[in-house]
Amino acid sequence: MTLAPYAAREDRSRGRRHPEAPPQGRSEFQRDRDRIVHSSAFRRLEYKTQVFVSHEGDLYRNRLTHSLEVAQIARSLARGLHLNEDLSEAIALAHDLGHTPFGHAGQDALDDCMKAFGGFEHNAQSLRVVDELEDKYAEFTGLNLSFETREGILKHCSQARAVALGPVGERFLTKRQPGLEAQLTNVADQIAYNNHDVDDGLRAGILTVDKLLDVPLFARFHAEVTARYTALTPRQLRHETIRRMINALVIDLHDETGKRLAEARPADIDAVRAHPEALVAFSDAMQRDNRDLKRFLYEHLYRHHAVYRVMYKARRIVRELFEALFGDLRLLPPEFQSAAVKADGDAGRARVVADYIAGMTDRYAAEEHARLYDLKQLR
Ligand code: MG
Repeated sequence: MTLAPYAAREDRSRGRRHPEAPPQGRSEFQRDRDRIVHSSAFRRLEYKTQVFVSHEGDLYRNRLTHSLEVAQIARSLARGLHLNEDLSEAIALAHDLGHTPFGHAGQDALDDCMKAFGGFEHNAQSLRVVDELEDKYAEFTGLNLSFETREGILKHCSQARAVALGPVGERFLTKRQPGLEAQLTNVADQIAYNNHDVDDGLRAGILTVDKLLDVPLFARFHAEVTARYTALTPRQLRHETIRRMINALVIDLHDETGKRLAEARPADIDAVRAHPEALVAFSDAMQRDNRDLKRFLYEHLYRHHAVYRVMYKARRIVRELFEALFGDLRLLPPEFQSAAVKADGDAGRARVVADYIAGMTDRYAAEEHARLYDLKQLR
């Protein structure tokens, strides 16, 4: 499979922070992917909330199955556009490694707790996981991933943090783009969660097909499916509609991006980075459809009272964990205590507490909260 000139190429990679001999029998980006899959942060994704807390049902997406769906979509797109499929896969599998327990509610609560200490951003935390927190290699801290994988993981970043991050943060100061594999994995993330959240929302009974007919993209494919098949079960109808939605989004993104690449003709990945805007994009019509779908989910799923009520408690768990642990660092497990002793000032100590909390699974966070606050159980 030949790569387009503007694809990321391992022989022109900006390299690893700690130089290593080239891998045998696999590409540099495959090695990145393999290190990600073997990390403990990756295994914890299974027990972290996407929208529904893991104990609400075994069939809902969690961050692990979400990351696998993102990888599937990103790889298809990369292959179709002659981009680097291995790199897209590595970025997709790592993109949520830094996510807190309890989804966005957990992230927002931890960000609030960290306001005075530089805040908390889950993208920056994903990079921190692969750069610093995974600590089991003899010759370096973190996973020592390639620059291009790290560039893709760091989707957003505040200016202040970008300065501290060195080369991988530079593009947020110079307003440059990441490589195409990073761009497309970012959009693959959105395609994955919008569609699986429709699926999970319907399954949970929080969304209804009737309501979803207000969303043009859903209505279009629902009509196509019901015209073609007359005796589908609700589950078949749901799946047949959603798979058409995903397919339409992927094909539109592929075609529009192909068109933009043909016009811009970037000579290489650096020309992609210097291009004034992202080259991976939906057509205008699909952009509108996608925005309508996203807006619908905000109104009817993420802010639905049943979801909101669980997330209210989740925010409280994260906030109270932070208060207890930052208030008395001896409550931290030994490994984090010694990191806190070495840390620089209150900001450094708060960061250690945030690292500990962000690494927790939903269940561990709830149990640790009970161990610290439930006076009826002393253990
Ligand atoms: Mg994601």
